Amino acid sequence: MKLIDFFKQFPDEQSCRDYFREQRLTEGITCRNCKGTSHYWMKTIEQFQCKDCRTRTTLRSGTVMESSNLCFRDWFIAMHLMTSTKKGISAKEMQRQLGFKRYEPVWFMMQKIRIAMGARDERYELTGFTEMDEGYFTTVESATVGEKDKKSKRGRGSEKRTPVLVMAQTEYVKNPKNHQQHSRCKFFKMRVMPDLKSTTINKVVKDSVDPRTKVKTDGLRSFSRLNEVVRKHLPKVIPPDQAGRELPWVHIAISNAKRNLLNNFHHVDDTYLQNYLDEFTYRLNRRYSGDKIFVKLLIACISFCWII
Ligand SMILES: [Zn+2]
Repeated sequence: MKLIDFFKQFPDEQSCRDYFREQRLTEGITCRNCKGTSHYWMKTIEQFQCKDCRTRTTLRSGTVMESSNLCFRDWFIAMHLMTSTKKGISAKEMQRQLGFKRYEPVWFMMQKIRIAMGARDERYELTGFTEMDEGYFTTVESATVGEKDKKSKRGRGSEKRTPVLVMAQTEYVKNPKNHQQHSRCKFFKMRVMPDLKSTTINKVVKDSVDPRTKVKTDGLRSFSRLNEVVRKHLPKVIPPDQAGRELPWVHIAISNAKRNLLNNFHHVDDTYLQNYLDEFTYRLNRRYSGDKIFVKLLIACISFCWII
């Protein structure tokens, strides 16, 4: 959505609240007391009331915005800026755009949106044919950030290379002109890994990939037990200079993700790497959604409550 269209549709706080309410009603509201799904809208106090037990639900409760003091329009603008730009936006830049004095509320809001993005993508499994490979992302150990900051404001924790499992669902299509097959990528997943043991990899693959999937990897030993969790494992010993040709989509995704993180954030705390990757893959998986990506994210944020 273009900025001009966004501000036309959401000129003020009320227009955001109205739109949010409509989307919540479309998604369905569940009463936290009796699990009833029929509600009245009480206009004067702007709350839903359960038709069965009269329990009230505020506009924000049960969504990612629960217990947030930021207004709906701030959340809407943040969601818009995080989806309308190809490359994303840093919290510092978001703070500037929203005109906030404090950095922390903006940072927290963006992290919650990223968590909602990740939760949405977790609903889907990759299927068909999937490329898989590991990539290493440079992060800063979170435990050391505080210690170093005491000594120097510009200080940072020790750098490390965090392993990430990257999966790309691809399909092969025939070019009708020359009858040659070429691969096309569909959906991606990226998972920060505590280690690259085969049991750890199998667990993550089981959660991310349909068991009927065929998986292509390089010859890394850690992939050797993938047959236990997928229909067919196709390992291939790939010389380093051939990796981009044999597993093209995972390699493109890894290098684009690294560049994206480097451009937006000078250093990434390893605790939050998964959130940043979730944002990256969320946009990547919806690259053909056009203007609809905003409302998709809004629905993801309505359906996800970070308070357990
Ligand atoms: Zn109820």
